Amino acid sequence: MFDPSPAPATGARVCVIGGGGTGAALAYDLCLRGFSVTLLEKGELTSGTTGRHHGQLHSGARYAVGDRAIARECMEETLILRRIAPDAVEYNGGVFVAVSDDEADYAPAFTAACLEAGIPAREVPVAEARSWEPAINPAARRAVWVPDGAFDAFRVPLAFFAAARALGAVIRPFVEAIGFDVTGGRVRAVIARPYGSAGDERIECDYVVSATGAWAGAVGRLAGLDVPITPAPGTMVAVRGRVSDMVVSRLAPPGDGDIVVPQRGLSIIGTTQRVVDDPDGILPNDDDVAFLLGRADELCPGFSKRPIHAVWAAARPLAGRAAGDGRSISRDFMVLDHAAPGSPPGSSGMATLIGGKATVLRAMAEKAADHVCMALGVGEACRTRDYVLPSWREYYAARHYSGGER
Ligand SMILES: Cc1cc2nc3c(=O)[nH]c(=O)nc-3n(C[C@H](O)[C@H](O)[C@H](O)COP(=O)(O)OP(=O)(O)OC[C@H]3O[C@@H](n4cnc5c(N)ncnc54)[C@H](O)[C@@H]3O)c2cc1C
Repeated sequence: MFDPSPAPATGARVCVIGGGGTGAALAYDLCLRGFSVTLLEKGELTSGTTGRHHGQLHSGARYAVGDRAIARECMEETLILRRIAPDAVEYNGGVFVAVSDDEADYAPAFTAACLEAGIPAREVPVAEARSWEPAINPAARRAVWVPDGAFDAFRVPLAFFAAARALGAVIRPFVEAIGFDVTGGRVRAVIARPYGSAGDERIECDYVVSATGAWAGAVGRLAGLDVPITPAPGTMVAVRGRVSDMVVSRLAPPGDGDIVVPQRGLSIIGTTQRVVDDPDGILPNDDDVAFLLGRADELCPGFSKRPIHAVWAAARPLAGRAAGDGRSISRDFMVLDHAAPGSPPGSSGMATLIGGKATVLRAMAEKAADHVCMALGVGEACRTRDYVLPSWREYYAARHYSGGER
C-alpha cells in the first residue's frame, strides 16, 4: 500500500508544464517535499514522446563505451525503477550480439566499459545466448549478457501520476500553457488555456518548471527564453509476436536499427535519428521501415516476415544544439535556471528540464526538484527512492467508488 510521509507543507506553489514521464516524476517528487503542485499538459497524459518510446529499460550498457557516467546512472535508475514500479516493469535481461567481425572485435571494450560503469555485463558463448533466445542469428560471432529490460511507456508515468495525485497534486490534462505573467522580473503566473474553452486561466505560482521535452523550445519562447533543445525524431516498427523475451541489441556503438524490444505480444525494432525544428506532426521517413526490418533480420532472422502491427515516430528531446543527425549531442539531461547569468531579463522563477531518457525520469525529477528547493529556500531532500509507487491503475480509479457494482 502506498502510504508515504510527505514533508510538512512549504506553502509554496509550483506549476509543472508537461505531462510526460518527466513531469509526472517531478510532480510526485515536489509533493513529497511539501510543495503544492499543479501540472498542465496540453494533450492527454503521456501523449508526447513518453507514450511513443521504445520501452527499453536501459541498463546503460548501450552508453557505457561513450559515457560511463550516463551508463552508471541508467544502471542505478534501472534498479530503483524495478523496485518502486514493479507493476510496470518487465525484467528479462538483455543480450548484445555481434554479427560482423568489427562487432566481434568491439566485445572486450564493451564489456570492460560496462563493468567500469557498474553494469554486471558478461560475455557468454553464442550457443548459450541462443539457448535463451533461439531467434538470435545462428551466425552471430559473440554475445554479451546485460541487465536490460522492458517497461511500459504509459504505466510507469501513470504510477508517478497516481502517487502525485494521492499527495494532492492537481493534474490537468488538455490544458495548454500559452503564456506567462512576468512582473517585477519574476514569473508570477502561467496563462493556461483548457482545450475547447473560450477563456484563459491564471495559474498563480511561486515557481515554474517546464518539463515539455521536445517542445521546451516553444514553451521557452513564450517567456522570451532561448532553450537549447534539438528535437530528434526516430522511427519504430512493431511486428506481431514476441521474437524474444530479452532485449536483443547490436554489439556496436549506438546507431540506427540496433535494438529489438519485446512489448506485450509485439516486438519493436528501433530506431532511427534525424533532427527537426518542430516536434509536432512527425511522421516516419519513407525508407525507415525497409531499413529497420533489414537491420532486425540481421539480429533475429525472420523478423521482417512477421506482419507489421504499427509504424510510428517520436522526437527525442536532446539537450543542446548540433548539426547532422544529432548523435553528437549527449544523452545527459540538464536543468536550465532562467535566472542564471546570461539569461534574458524577466525570467527568474522558472527552470527548464530537458534531455535524458525515460529510464532516468526519477533522477531527472530529483535534480529539478533539488533546484526548486534551492531557488525557494526549502531544505527538503529527495525521497522518491523510498516508496513503492501505487499501481498505475490507481490513477484512473474513481475516488467516489465505495464498492459494489456500478
Ligand atoms: C524513438 C525514440 C525511442 C526512445 N526509446 C527509449 C527507450 O527505449 N528507453 C528510454 O529510456 N528512453 C527512450 N526514449 C527517450 C524518451 O522517450 C524520452 O526521453 C522521454 O519520453 C521524454 O519524456 P518527457 O516527459 O521529458 O517529454 P514528453 O513525453 O514529450 O512530455 C512533454 C509534454 O509536454 C507537453 N507540452 C508541450 N507544450 C506544452 C504546453 N505549452 N502546455 C502544456 N503541455 C505542453 C507535451 O504535450 C508532452 O506531453 C526514446 C525516444 C525516442 C524519440
